[in-house]
Amino acid sequence: MSSKSIPQPIVMKFGGTSLKDSDRIQNAAQLVSERKNQHPVVVTSAMSGVTSKLIETAEAALEKNKTIVSENLAWLHKVHFTTAKTPEVQKEITRLFQKLEEHFTGVEMLGELTPRTLDIICSFGERLSSWLMLETLQSLGLSAERFDSREFVRTNNQFGSAEISWDFTCPQIKKTLGPALKKGIVPVITGYIAATEDGQTTTLGRGGSDYSASLCGVCLDATEIQIWTDVDGMMTADPRVIKNAKPLSQISFQEAAELAYFGAKVLHPKTIQPAIDAEIPVKILNTQNPTASGTTIIKDSPQTKNSIKAIAFKKGISVINICSSRMLGPYGFLSKI
Ligand code: ADP
Ligand code: ASP
Ligand code: MG
Repeated sequence: MSSKSIPQPIVMKFGGTSLKDSDRIQNAAQLVSERKNQHPVVVTSAMSGVTSKLIETAEAALEKNKTIVSENLAWLHKVHFTTAKTPEVQKEITRLFQKLEEHFTGVEMLGELTPRTLDIICSFGERLSSWLMLETLQSLGLSAERFDSREFVRTNNQFGSAEISWDFTCPQIKKTLGPALKKGIVPVITGYIAATEDGQTTTLGRGGSDYSASLCGVCLDATEIQIWTDVDGMMTADPRVIKNAKPLSQISFQEAAELAYFGAKVLHPKTIQPAIDAEIPVKILNTQNPTASGTTIIKDSPQTKNSIKAIAFKKGISVINICSSRMLGPYGFLSKI
């Protein structure tokens, strides 16, 4: 199958904030429906707070804290089950929760939480939310199909932040999603998760569904990659802290990555690089204000009057200042410290 015959899609990635409850999912699905002529490929994150809750529960299971495990499981179940509309999806959710519980029991019994097990546990967030997005798109009359990215995104076994094997993954993406796109089907893909050659579940690092979006966009030669979140784009400061922060209409990849690294987590650092290199426009857009123009990430930043474009900060940082005449020369000084 030649890649030319696959329609050039747009990739629409929805972050957890855009999938927080059934109204938000409905809203996101509506945005997809309005763009159906642009051949959307939907990439979903876990619902808001779910990945963190899964990690917290895994740690509680390790500490044999049954109360926290069952409280968290009840919360996770309620959030997904009450959002699901159709009996088929409710059944899927029940099936996934049975498996999830088995993993927590395993951690508790073995008294061990390996990075590999943690990745399996974390994968449930996207495996669950993608069903909710699928049924909502279908309820709007769209023909949509869910794809578990572990079937085509291959990585090494660096659990927790696995490296993608692009040479394997790109042809697989085309082979798997191409036929659906040709038929006018909207693919719904689990972001953030992948698998090794021998089928072990991996994750691409926290916030990694941006990476999944970038990957799909590059491999399918998308016309645009849209990162949908709950703010009007990359802002001059964290809008939760600075009330009059303003959205930036353009920002270079380098600047966005730098800001993301220092806490402007609206965009996962570095993951957008492949899209920028492929010269695919990347936009950050707001599901709550979809007509706002958002922020476009560009390769090189144009000169502007304001040389400082945005400010980011990190909490809980310690700075250690070391002064010693002994540090002049000796090898291994810092490692001793
Ligand atoms: P999503 O679930 O959509 O991935 P995130 O919570 O990961 O969303 O990122 C969006 C959040 O990033 C915003 O709600 C905002 O509070 C925060 N944020 C921090 N710094 C910035 C910034 N400079 N510009 C925009 N958002 C920022
Ligand atoms: N659900 C994952 C996380 O919370 C990935 C993502 O949201 O991009 O880190
Ligand atoms: Mg995010």
